[in-house]
Amino acid sequence: ESPETLNFIEQIIEEDLAKGLPKEKLRFRFPPEPNGYLHIGHAASICLNFGLGEKYNAPVNLRFDDTNPAKEEQEYVDAIKRDIAWLGFKWANECYSSDYFQQLYDWAVQLIKEGKAYVDQQSSEQIAEQKGTPTTPGKPSPFRDRPVAESLELFEKMKNGEFPAGSYLLRAKIDMASPNMHMRDPILYRIINAPHHRTGSDWCIYPMYDWAHGESDYIEQVSHSLCTLEFKLHRELYDWYLDQIYDPSLLRPKQREFARRNLSYTVMSKRKLLELVQKKVVAGWNDPRMPTISGLRRRGYTPESIRKFSDLSGISKRDNVTDVSLLEYCIREDLNKTATRVMAVLDPVKVVLTNYPEGKVEMLSMENNPEDLNSGTHEVPFSKELYIEREDFKEEANKKFFRLSLGNEVRLKSAYIIKADSVVKDEAGNITEIHCTVDLDSKSGSGTEASLRKVKGTLHWVSIVHAITAEVREYDRLFLDEAPDAHEDKNFMEFINPDSLNIIKKAYLEPYLAQATLDDKYQFQRLGYFTLDTDSKEGHLIFNKTVGLKDSWAK
Ligand code: ATP
Ligand code: MG
Ligand code: MG
Repeated sequence: ESPETLNFIEQIIEEDLAKGLPKEKLRFRFPPEPNGYLHIGHAASICLNFGLGEKYNAPVNLRFDDTNPAKEEQEYVDAIKRDIAWLGFKWANECYSSDYFQQLYDWAVQLIKEGKAYVDQQSSEQIAEQKGTPTTPGKPSPFRDRPVAESLELFEKMKNGEFPAGSYLLRAKIDMASPNMHMRDPILYRIINAPHHRTGSDWCIYPMYDWAHGESDYIEQVSHSLCTLEFKLHRELYDWYLDQIYDPSLLRPKQREFARRNLSYTVMSKRKLLELVQKKVVAGWNDPRMPTISGLRRRGYTPESIRKFSDLSGISKRDNVTDVSLLEYCIREDLNKTATRVMAVLDPVKVVLTNYPEGKVEMLSMENNPEDLNSGTHEVPFSKELYIEREDFKEEANKKFFRLSLGNEVRLKSAYIIKADSVVKDEAGNITEIHCTVDLDSKSGSGTEASLRKVKGTLHWVSIVHAITAEVREYDRLFLDEAPDAHEDKNFMEFINPDSLNIIKKAYLEPYLAQATLDDKYQFQRLGYFTLDTDSKEGHLIFNKTVGLKDSWAK
């Protein structure tokens, strides 16, 4: 492989290998905080880390970064595992930062003993005020030079639950004048009186991200700890913490940063996604309009399409926004190759074939997927009374209308050529029936001259007596703005699209769809790709529209 085809993270790894890092020491991790569901941005990190694992045949840990019990829940742990497995990746070990609480505590005690940490008893507001600005030094805490023995005693009391939340903090003693604000005596521990989803009430002090993360990487002997760009300035602190505890006979982890993946017309932070859930803008984390893995799955996206999207959008050093149309392209490409072709009518108008025998039923053969020669066929019933889409008929039409109009012919997909002769209307003037004659020699695949006759339009249809009904849900973008959370003066909630969900209460489907399962993917011919929704019940089928077709056969 030439260096040009390597992304910059792979180049870093190759350099480390060239400098003597043994290949069997490569180890990666994906470190979600279980405070929400995974989204398509996380998929970038998952595909990167697990992709490196596959490429270098190296273990990849799933590490739950569970250091804030106020926001974390078992529900999220379970959902995260489900989503990663669904994407098709296997973790080497299931790890939790909370498993290292005792070790982290012991190391913190060591820092205090070495004069590198102290217990502060100011409020977080006071501490923030003293931080200074990037160009002016901060002011030292009045407790910065507290004697070691006193800090040790207070820290133990913090741990034993003798103080209320917010009263005491443990801080590293680094440099209040550092140009890097993260180095100005960062907080190591704070008191949180909330039960933890794994450690229960064992602890009431919890480590901050920077302290827990690098040390967890070290404990797990992760060689390359890949995180997003906002942590670049934390790298100095990551390294400082490792310096304090590092045993040179062991591997020393290395933090490197890549750009977050953003997607147009949505928001990606878990905090904002949670707000959409809590304010009931969506039906839940797995609402098909959400950019979550579970939402995309429910919408009908496949693991392959999400992995493909990650490949195509690549790994970048600079923040950027990927157009959602790339994601739609990936699922369309995948479903075009795999989805079963069926017929459904969403907005029906009745067609009566006046010269077709009453009571006759023909079972016509429909190719399951013309892109896949091995996909076989299924049968579709045909009879005298059919539904077609209301918009596929006009009484009078100009030459550009290749659908059905009075006096003109169209082919019914996989069936016959029909010609519209007259319409029946109700009192309000709405068309209730279209009377047509069918060319009985023109059956698709029969080989007759009439069957080979070219007509301009082909329509989808269902036989009325055989059709089953279903609810169909169509989705539009959740936000009207390309970058809803990039406005300084406006909250992202102001850009919600009020029409992002369109429910069709009663659509008519060919009876083959009665056997649909949640894993099946369909192309409703000329309409788009659809999949069964998890809300579906026997007697009340619900289909989600995954994505539209790029081109319908004829307009
Ligand atoms: P959020 O702001 O959505 O809560 P986070 O970074 O706090 O994101 P974590 O659960 O900590 O969420 O993320 C786990 C891993 O996934 C981290 O390594 C993080 O950097 C990465 N990650 C999160 N969001 C993105 C994104 N949009 N693009 C790429 N990687 C991401
Ligand atoms: Mg995080
Ligand atoms: Mg977060």
